[in-house]
Amino acid sequence: MSTWYQLSPPAVLEKFGTIATGLSQEEAQQRLARQGPNELVEKATKNPWVILREQLTATMVLILIVAAVLSAFLGDIQDSIAIFLIVVFNAVLGFRQEYQAEQAIASLRRLAVPTVRVKRAGQVQELSSRELVPGDVVLLEAGNLVPADGRILESANLRVQEASLTGESDAVDKVSHALDQGDLPLGDRVNMVYMGTIVTYGRGEVVITETAMSTELGQIAAAIQSVKSEPTHLQKRLDQLGQKLAIAILVTVLIVFGLGLLRGEELQAMFMIAVSLGVAAVPEGLPAVVTIALSLGAQRMLKQQALIRKLPAVETLGSVTVICTDKTGTLTENRMTVASVVAAGKRIDLTQHPSSLLDGEPSTDFQTQPVHSLLLMAGTLCNDAALNLDDAAPQGFRMIGDPTEGALVVAAAQAGLKKIDLEACLHRIKEVPFDSDRKLMTTVHCRGTDSSPALSLVADTLAFAQVPDPCQYVVFCKGAVDRLLKISDWVWEADRIEQMTEERCDRILETHDQLAQEGMRLLGVAYQSLKEIPDDLSTVEQHLIFVGLVGMIDPIRSDVYGAVQTCQTAGIRPVMITGDHPLTAQHIAADLGIAANGKLLTGQDLDRLTEAELCDAVGQVSVYARVAPQHKLDIIHALQCSGQITAMTGDGVNDAPALKQADIGISMGITGTDVAKDASDIVLLDDNFSTIVAATREGRVIYDNIRKFILYTLTGNLGELWVILFAPFLGMPLPLLPLQILWINLLADGILALSLSVEPAERNIMKRAPYEPNESIFGRGVGQSIIWIGLFLGAVLLGVGYRYWDLGLENWQTMVFCTLAFSRISIAQAVRSDQDSLFKIGLFSNEPALLAVIVTFLFQILVVYVPLLQTMFKTVPLSATDLGVSLGLGALVFFSVEFKKKMFRQRSGSGA
Ligand code: ADP
Ligand code: MG
Repeated sequence: MSTWYQLSPPAVLEKFGTIATGLSQEEAQQRLARQGPNELVEKATKNPWVILREQLTATMVLILIVAAVLSAFLGDIQDSIAIFLIVVFNAVLGFRQEYQAEQAIASLRRLAVPTVRVKRAGQVQELSSRELVPGDVVLLEAGNLVPADGRILESANLRVQEASLTGESDAVDKVSHALDQGDLPLGDRVNMVYMGTIVTYGRGEVVITETAMSTELGQIAAAIQSVKSEPTHLQKRLDQLGQKLAIAILVTVLIVFGLGLLRGEELQAMFMIAVSLGVAAVPEGLPAVVTIALSLGAQRMLKQQALIRKLPAVETLGSVTVICTDKTGTLTENRMTVASVVAAGKRIDLTQHPSSLLDGEPSTDFQTQPVHSLLLMAGTLCNDAALNLDDAAPQGFRMIGDPTEGALVVAAAQAGLKKIDLEACLHRIKEVPFDSDRKLMTTVHCRGTDSSPALSLVADTLAFAQVPDPCQYVVFCKGAVDRLLKISDWVWEADRIEQMTEERCDRILETHDQLAQEGMRLLGVAYQSLKEIPDDLSTVEQHLIFVGLVGMIDPIRSDVYGAVQTCQTAGIRPVMITGDHPLTAQHIAADLGIAANGKLLTGQDLDRLTEAELCDAVGQVSVYARVAPQHKLDIIHALQCSGQITAMTGDGVNDAPALKQADIGISMGITGTDVAKDASDIVLLDDNFSTIVAATREGRVIYDNIRKFILYTLTGNLGELWVILFAPFLGMPLPLLPLQILWINLLADGILALSLSVEPAERNIMKRAPYEPNESIFGRGVGQSIIWIGLFLGAVLLGVGYRYWDLGLENWQTMVFCTLAFSRISIAQAVRSDQDSLFKIGLFSNEPALLAVIVTFLFQILVVYVPLLQTMFKTVPLSATDLGVSLGLGALVFFSVEFKKKMFRQRSGSGA
């Protein structure tokens, strides 16, 4: 039924068998069981069958299957069975890895589901939006994503942006009353909200009418599901690399094949050689390993409190050069405490800890003069925070809401002004919420009729404030002092209201600057009384009476000092962006060592600069103060046009564009809005700057490990290629059989190489510059190493093969086979670190790798000494001496790689 908008709120509630205080818990559970979770069916996640099919239809596998079938036709049934077995085994391994990676990504996606505030049985609860059912009563506020379709029960200036459904980018004002026309288009149903739209302003309550696929968004979701998850930058580059390699290999194979036939070799033998070559050379594991490394990395980051929403971010993190961060809550703890209140030229410093704020008589921790009471009363009433009794909390109460506002409520309670009492006396009837652009918040109050004796303080204060008649309305306004002074015509002096003069204004600003230099976050408070309230509330924000200032301290998070230093050694510049006053910002920045050059720009400066000037400036300036969210976008643009890779934090609705534009958008898990989270690549679960730094470190590790994987795989493939390619020139028959190559590939790529993806960080990982985003995968010595080590491996294999073959020993092929296996084991250990020797990092620093070594070694021994496997792999048992020779050659390869690293260390002077 799509006419909920024609019914009144009570009628809708009745239709859904619910009441304004919400469903009962049992009823909600039953409905959930009946209706299923509130989520759009995601076709983006691959189901296991798709993964399996992909594994089995990979080009390489198809070639092998053809080879197996051909072998069978040519009479070699045993060979073809063995090839089949290995193909299946390979596919199973590949399937398992990719399935795990897929699962990991899916679980990240589930974690990223927003929570909603729902009324159930009269209690407000936070639930995952998946658990919503029709009939639930949901509370919405600015910054929420609407979690399902619903009919509005109550709207306090609720405004919703519905572009995702209607294409209309202006936000729509929402109402609660019934609409009588029928057949209204979606955009005109102003008493409904729809899943996936954004609350940009105000608050409201809605009853859920439709969930999951029955929502309007669900109906058009088919279009959304077909959006494929984009491969990452690195995946794309590796795909291209793989294709190029495949073509090169195909050409080589065809040439070898043709030359062989011309020489008069047997067709069957040549075919087998060609297949072996192909199998040896094609790095089939490349694209998969990136997915695996990225998703494993994302899981490790989650343990460090960084939730990855978009996988490509993991790889971009490694090349971040600038981190733009909010100050409040990210660099600081967002544990605000009022330190000073200043009014009528008198400053009171609060040093005491709040004691027993909630029970008993109003206890006054400090003495105020009436003007300070007025200041705190206004600050507490123009305020959305609340103190709740909570015995578990250290101080016996818990603050709910914005910490800045909470601090005011606590300070007022310390002066004997409790928020509950104040509100009983002065009901809030209208409000203009705080936003980071205006940096002001205003509420309009009306005096209640029930005046209890406990409230005499309020009455006294109001009388003092010269708010005479009980019927008058009182307007309270708080916000950034410079903004507030612009709209204040009057000011409290000693014991009366005076005209605001330039001199008085300067004096206030002087006090302000003094406190800001101490690192305080400052708020001004003003008020006025009105006979009637205008419709347009913006007009109440003028001709105010300025009362005074409140200064708060917010301690810097202790681990941020270290994180800032790490950034600096790692070639990453931390940049602080804040809405606070420049002096406050400067104090904190200096404390953290962020702005060594002392340069600072304000929002006003940013507005004045031209685009080109800004591009120049952002290279130097690391502190931005008094900015509005729009400025973040300007800063990002400028940084990007000067070639920086930028991470940017944000929490509000207005931050979304900057989060989207940044190379990595980072939202706050605790204080962030749904909208910011939705626009971000990463959610910081602990809101902590240090976590960003930890994540960039993890990003570098992952990129390093992918490079190591590539180095390892390609070296081995190249070594195998050389043997097969050059053996005929020495007059030798095929030194490695196709099945043997398949076997080595299975062990090396399937087991050994994967253990490289969990290799811990290099010693200097945060002491070197970020890697260039377009750096060649073969840069920084990797390409050189591949060729060098590959050649050496090929030479060793050819050498040992030729020697044994020349002597007429029947075990010559087995010697080549084993030497290759042992060499690949030793190379896997040798490439674990780019710079340090294995002896320095130790065998046990990557236990999975050690395990892989042992397993691979044992498997190889089995293949050589177990009779059944001998017939299959055409091996002959090696004598102890020959086994020793083979192991020795493996060790030789190992030391050659270590030697190369040593040379490299000495040349680049990075030896430690
Ligand atoms: P940030 O989040 O970067 O610290 P904000 O934009 O939240 O910056 O705050 C900027 C200024 O706005 C503060 O210095 C303070 O003066 C004022 N302010 C902050 N929060 C509130 C609020 N809830 N009500 C009124 N004013 C506020
Ligand atoms: Mg803020």
